[in-house]
Amino acid sequence: MLLHEHLKALDVLTFHTQLLDWYTHSGRHTLPWQHPPLPYTTWISEIMCQQTQVATVIPYFNRFIQAFPTLEDLAASSEATVLSYWSGLGYYARARNLHRTAKILLTQFNGHFPEDLETLQTLPGIGRSTAGAIYTLAFNRPAPILDGNVKRVLARLIDLKSWPGLPENLKTLWALSERLVPTQRVNEYTQAMMDLGALICTRKQPLCSVCPIQSHCQAYAQAHTQICPVPRPKRIQPIRYNTWVLIISPTHILLKQNPSKGLWGGLWCPPSIEAAMDCFAQHHVHLFKKTPPTVSNLRIFKHTFTHFKLYITPIVIDLSQHPDFTPNGLQWQPRHHLDHFAHPSPLAQLIQRINRSI
Ligand code: SF4
Repeated sequence: MLLHEHLKALDVLTFHTQLLDWYTHSGRHTLPWQHPPLPYTTWISEIMCQQTQVATVIPYFNRFIQAFPTLEDLAASSEATVLSYWSGLGYYARARNLHRTAKILLTQFNGHFPEDLETLQTLPGIGRSTAGAIYTLAFNRPAPILDGNVKRVLARLIDLKSWPGLPENLKTLWALSERLVPTQRVNEYTQAMMDLGALICTRKQPLCSVCPIQSHCQAYAQAHTQICPVPRPKRIQPIRYNTWVLIISPTHILLKQNPSKGLWGGLWCPPSIEAAMDCFAQHHVHLFKKTPPTVSNLRIFKHTFTHFKLYITPIVIDLSQHPDFTPNGLQWQPRHHLDHFAHPSPLAQLIQRINRSI
């Protein structure tokens, strides 16, 4: 069935009534960013919830808002501090964009969010769906959204036969999302669609028997809920290899801050073999004569990114005393206080393993 045929067959008014009735008694009404739904907190939550589940986001959100209660606080902070509150959430470009956007809002928009959709989308990290969510949830103005959850619900609603990420399918789904936006209770409608995707129309085993929009759903009618949406075609992921040299003292670990652009941009990571060799060349007398180190290998581990897999070989160089030098370009960070510096989650796991075993 083509989109216009679906839309002709769809009773939009009943769809809204059934969805909003369900949302009133079964939707999520106590999320920490909902009370009150300010543009600032809505924006932070929307960015955090990209590619991340709400349950994971909540503690990060609470810590972040405690540290940066206002846009001014966020803009005035350093990127390193913002990243340290993001450590563990992944996709660090989101945090850097938050920081950049806070500065832009303060300097170019008087500290306010622009109230038109087009301008909102010009801000770093705010795409069409995020702009739509801020617009509807914080300003209660009508706009379509198409985040991962909503995309799945709409794909099933029309029983889409190919991967929703294809350009022609995205066009269809945006048109459908736009068509479904009501004229009233738009904030509740948007939250209801997000909640339906997260709680009922889940990726595996959707709870169709209690779904409020079941009577409109083509995938349900065709018994296609297990094959719709069609998954992304498989790609062969490239593999990269890296070695991390973890030089540790009883209290600290020697780390190097990555450049702000690129992999784990702005985060603190162990030096590569080359940088570590350089450090040994500078300080071998201290390292090897005064405090003979213990060298050991930890198991190679894999970290999966969106576009490639990274295999890391960790080598631990354990100094028995904290040395009185800091090699050029590196810095000692407290290994028992990981929240003091921004780091990638695999490093946290490694340090915790080392802390437990020593
Ligand atoms: S009926 Fe099932 S597949 Fe269709 S929208 Fe509801 S939960 Fe999703």
